[in-house]
Amino acid sequence: MNDGELIQIVDAALAEAARKSGPWLVCRAGCAQCCIGVFAISGVDVDRLHRGLAALAASDPDRAARVRQRARESVERTLEDFPGDAVTGILDEGGDAEARFDEFANEEPCPALDPESLTCDLYASRPLTCRTFGPALRVGSGAIAACELCYEGATEEEVEACAIDLDVQALDPDDGDVRTTVAFALR
Ligand code: SF4
Ligand code: SF4
Repeated sequence: MNDGELIQIVDAALAEAARKSGPWLVCRAGCAQCCIGVFAISGVDVDRLHRGLAALAASDPDRAARVRQRARESVERTLEDFPGDAVTGILDEGGDAEARFDEFANEEPCPALDPESLTCDLYASRPLTCRTFGPALRVGSGAIAACELCYEGATEEEVEACAIDLDVQALDPDDGDVRTTVAFALR
């Protein structure tokens, strides 16, 4: 499956999730809580972000330069505690790596986030995590994940009724093989 096909499947599933959730879902431009805190991305995300940044550099070089600058600053700010290879940006695996990453840079804004408009400068190229966060998703274990800002006042049964099944990791051709961060991908 190529990246275009992957994105088509994921975006179609999320459109269905949004349809089922209706007004319980409060995602909107300018709501950026989910863009704060570093998360892991895989190789397909890195390649897509690179393509998105190259396209932005062609259409709006100043904006692309600001993204790169924010990425470089983010890496510098967080390098001391980076739980991985500080040169390549590849995250450590095994041992206590996951626990260290859980504690890493939870207040750090994503460098693709425009700090004034609070919108994503690379929206069309955003990682799978960004595409799938928000609506109620039933993951492999059967647990349901959703943004804490959505489904306010909903019962467990109401959230259950909105949930869709989507195992993004199973669809990811890299299967999490390459794990890095948006800042390292864009710096
Ligand atoms: S996932 Fe949550 S934080 Fe992100 S846009 Fe939707 S409601 Fe806002
Ligand atoms: S890539 Fe875009 S949508 Fe994803 S966290 Fe960064 S700013 Fe938010």
